[in-house]
Amino acid sequence: MPYIAMARKWRPRSFSEMVGQEHIAQTLKNAIATEKVHHAFLFTGTRGVGKTTSARILASMLNCTAEGEKPCGQCESCKAIAAGSSMDVLEIDAASNNGVEDMRTILDGTQYPPMNSQHRILIIDEVHALSKQAWNSMLKTLEEPPHYLIFIFATTEVNKVLPTILSRVLRFDFKRLSPLQISKRLAYVCEQEGIKIAPEALSIISEKADGSMRDALTIFDEVFAYSGNSITAESVQNALGIPSDTLYFELVKAFEAHDAKGSFAVLEKAIAAGVEVQVFLEGLIRFLRNFLYSKIGLTAETLEISQENLDNLKKLAPTFEQGDILRIAKIITELSERCSSRHGLNPRLLAEAEFSKIAWLDRVVNIKEVLENIKNTPLKEESQKKIGSFI
Ligand SMILES: [Zn+2]
Repeated sequence: MPYIAMARKWRPRSFSEMVGQEHIAQTLKNAIATEKVHHAFLFTGTRGVGKTTSARILASMLNCTAEGEKPCGQCESCKAIAAGSSMDVLEIDAASNNGVEDMRTILDGTQYPPMNSQHRILIIDEVHALSKQAWNSMLKTLEEPPHYLIFIFATTEVNKVLPTILSRVLRFDFKRLSPLQISKRLAYVCEQEGIKIAPEALSIISEKADGSMRDALTIFDEVFAYSGNSITAESVQNALGIPSDTLYFELVKAFEAHDAKGSFAVLEKAIAAGVEVQVFLEGLIRFLRNFLYSKIGLTAETLEISQENLDNLKKLAPTFEQGDILRIAKIITELSERCSSRHGLNPRLLAEAEFSKIAWLDRVVNIKEVLENIKNTPLKEESQKKIGSFI
């Protein structure tokens, strides 16, 4: 059987399968249940958060011929929409059909009532890419649409959509997904597919997906091709060219020991393994965050890491206070930004310069210890009096 990309295979077919956009799903479901359906919708949000998928689900719900729960997924209309062959649902990518002629042809096709369903539905993806003339030619139909016609627009750049259009549509803002939401969905997909995956592997993929479910599944395909049916944190790191946590443990230990040379050696190892400096730094930021949270007392489950990894983090660099970790994280975050801004500076040299600074950072002094020391040190009577009023 040919391999089907996970993003395609696990594309939600109903709102109940959709992750993270419950506010939108509920509103649309209510509108359909009460038969108060607007004739034009605008779905906005970053890429891969479910805009086009929701447009198809909405189209399926509107044209589903079954009684009860819609979309049923079984009727002719539902099947045709899923296969992309419905005569009554037209899906257009505005990025490649953005001219006024294209728009006229499309609108001509909407003059006639639907063939097999209740509505004719026009889904226009990346709608901000339409030319001004194309928008204008559509405006009249948008103002006075035939009763069967429904527009669903999707865009990643709502600021480029003309105000005259915005005022005529019902707008829905799609949220970026949290790493936890992505992990949960991936875990579900793995369970259904019979694939074993470690919590840390899920965590790395969902972080890298940066809020996009589609990206998460695409990354997952890459990892699956490399690892097969058993996916560990290490296999994800190898598949994606991400450095292993072992290197970060070594690096933080070198920082703690004021060992600048040792920190360079870790960077060298990563580079020799084919890891880019920028990627190494991004991983380091994630590692430092987990390190900090382990000190605060967050659980392995919240951090989406294994208990073993959490125990190791707790034992790592005991002389570092939370303030020290925060300072290091700040330096690394700024360094990562400088490295990605491509000023032509050598990222490796920049990283080494900052690593040596970190290795020689003064530690944040533990205030409690200082106070204890002051209390226990015999002082002249006068100083005792002064300090006594503070402690
Ligand atoms: Zn149906």
